[in-house]
Amino acid sequence: MLSRSTTNAVAYRASSMRRMRRRAAQATRLYCSTNGCTSFLLVDETAGVARCEICGYTRRLH
Ligand SMILES: [Zn+2]
Repeated sequence: MLSRSTTNAVAYRASSMRRMRRRAAQATRLYCSTNGCTSFLLVDETAGVARCEICGYTRRLH
């Protein structure tokens, strides 16, 4: 059984990862709009692409 502190640490790490991901999406604000898709693209800076998790559309950043 997990101790309370271990559970809190895991929850904190998960929430901070979500925060980072959300901030990255807001910084770029790339809208998918492929075939009427209404989601934002997730930017992968190391690969140099932005990808839509919903429809799978991939756009080159440079
Ligand atoms: Zn899409």
